[in-house]
Amino acid sequence: MSQPISDTFAQQLQQMRTELIALIRAQRGGKIRRAEAAPDPHDIQSGDWSQVDGERDLAQALDARETAELRAIDDALERIRQGAYGQCVDRGVDIPTARLHANPAALRCIDCQSRYERAHPMEAPSL
Ligand SMILES: [Zn+2]
Repeated sequence: MSQPISDTFAQQLQQMRTELIALIRAQRGGKIRRAEAAPDPHDIQSGDWSQVDGERDLAQALDARETAELRAIDDALERIRQGAYGQCVDRGVDIPTARLHANPAALRCIDCQSRYERAHPMEAPSL
């Protein structure tokens, strides 16, 4: 991949990274009250702790997904620095540019990514 093209992806990845970190900070700081966010235990009046646990698990799962996304973005930036960006980490084949445009953090070609997600259903972000 030529330098100007990987520079473009590097800029996109930096932008994604900034936005993702802002999102994670906002959720943890309680600035976003989205339905999936873990409730503050002090807000719970009903005493229905089984439901609270369920919501907490969901919030933690989302947290893990966002952390995995952040790691994927950092990996992609590192691969740009190493000159290995755009190659599938499993097989070394070129990842189609259209796939990288859709998802600049993609580390694998579609085939390897679907195989990876089948093997690691809980940890793989949908990239
Ligand atoms: Zn592959």
